[in-house]
Amino acid sequence: MKQYKMWIGGKWVDAESGKTYPVFNPATESEIAQLPLGGKSDVDKAVEAARKAFPVWSKKPQSERSQIAMKIAAILRDNAEELGNIDTLDHGTPSKIAPFMVAGASDRFEWAAYNARSLMGHTIPVSPETLAYLQREPIGVIALITPWNLPLLMICHKLAPALTLGNTCVVKPPSIDSLAALKLAELLEKLELPPGTVNVVTGPGSTVGEALASNRGVDMVAFTGSSDTGKRIMSLASQTVKLLQLELGGKNPAIILEDVDVDAVVGAMIGELSFNSGQTCGAPGRFYVHEKIYDEFLEKFVASTKKLVVGDPSDAKTDMGPLVSDEHRNKVESYISLGIKEGAKVILGGKRPTTPTMKKGYYVMPTIITGVTQNMRVAREEIFGPVACFMEKFNSDDKVIEMANDNTFGLNSWVWTKDIARGMRFANEIQAGTVQIGQSHGGGPELPWGGYKESGIGKEGSLYGLYEYTNLKRIQVDLMTPKKQV
Ligand code: NDP
Repeated sequence: MKQYKMWIGGKWVDAESGKTYPVFNPATESEIAQLPLGGKSDVDKAVEAARKAFPVWSKKPQSERSQIAMKIAAILRDNAEELGNIDTLDHGTPSKIAPFMVAGASDRFEWAAYNARSLMGHTIPVSPETLAYLQREPIGVIALITPWNLPLLMICHKLAPALTLGNTCVVKPPSIDSLAALKLAELLEKLELPPGTVNVVTGPGSTVGEALASNRGVDMVAFTGSSDTGKRIMSLASQTVKLLQLELGGKNPAIILEDVDVDAVVGAMIGELSFNSGQTCGAPGRFYVHEKIYDEFLEKFVASTKKLVVGDPSDAKTDMGPLVSDEHRNKVESYISLGIKEGAKVILGGKRPTTPTMKKGYYVMPTIITGVTQNMRVAREEIFGPVACFMEKFNSDDKVIEMANDNTFGLNSWVWTKDIARGMRFANEIQAGTVQIGQSHGGGPELPWGGYKESGIGKEGSLYGLYEYTNLKRIQVDLMTPKKQV
């Protein structure tokens, strides 16, 4: 079993306490590694190293930083197989999808590299005597606190723009899925960045994460995770008025109107639900199906869900691997029990698999719950597992929009219809950062992603996402000064 170190100030180090903690393969429940149990003093060192690196890194020409970002993209591609295998090993990502996650991570760096070179400022016509202009500058030290659901990709979403634009970073990966971050650090080491430009501190959110969110030397926290943790980070970061970018939870409505090609929509939505075993912020959390097609849709949805191959994530045939941990499986199962208690009906799944090969591993079979009503907790809270909640049938556009918006989250949504104008009317009314009309998850880093309401603050991806990692400075010049002096 491998014993890992953290990467601080360009060196591989143990936690100052000397303590370690185990991580497990979710498909076998076997221990696969021991990681340093970082704490406040390790965070202090990492932040100090990042502060020291900032003047060096931020003053490099943008062209040079972009070239380095391109090299990172290439290194990720060159090591795609190993990186994909790591996600499969410690997270349970099916080997079928793991390569796409690495390709996505690489794409983030390429996109940031190109676009950082074209960031433009503005001049503002104040008066003939004054030239005012705006320029974008690196912010400083950014803490990147990331979740376990897509371990490598979630880091690269943030690291690519933050680093390329001249910031230095302290990455706090999810404690149970840190191997991708450590492998990434090993790859970055080869590029000989100024020591401390990127640091990785492993350990629990309650110590490492909180120490980062409170540290005076951190200028911004870029966080992806649950809304509860996001609120805690906001409160800690408020003490030193840090910039925040928060990508939080979702309970995303999928609205299916009566004119759709049912087979096509069933296929697309099952793909979304089973992707990463439903452990995705953008996954469908509530299905609203028009009464005219409800029965047909549900019947086909059940039939297709039964065909999903659940099992060993390293098997190329597997559609859905295990959940990430025993603790998370318990959470998902407790939501299924809660749904039943609240009066909903489990019509498929709801159980662990009975196949002998899946006796070990944190598996839950894909589950379909019907009769879910607006006020049930299973309709309001994020389950983050392979559980489809079918809400009551609807027959009014206005009513279904009202129900879709009746939630504290506002991350993602779908409107399935062949009538694009009708879909666009829905899009105008839906309170979510993303509305997908008649399609599912097209696009990459060129599109912004981010939530309304308790789903977060700020954007990832697109030029708006790049701007998040810059400070905007106003500079104004008195054009008459030389004249006045004469
Ligand atoms: P958590 O909020 O539990 O954890 C996210 C990260 O925060 C982890 O690194 C965690 O560390 C750390 N953390 C935990 N507690 C604290 C704390 N008190 N202070 C600072 N940091 C802390 O989320 P999960 O990892 O369980 O991820 C699932 C959640 O992420 C879901 O709600 C999902 O919707 C959301 N998410 C949102 C996305 C978006 O783009 N909007 C994308 C992907 C996921 P540790 O691992 O040690 O607990």
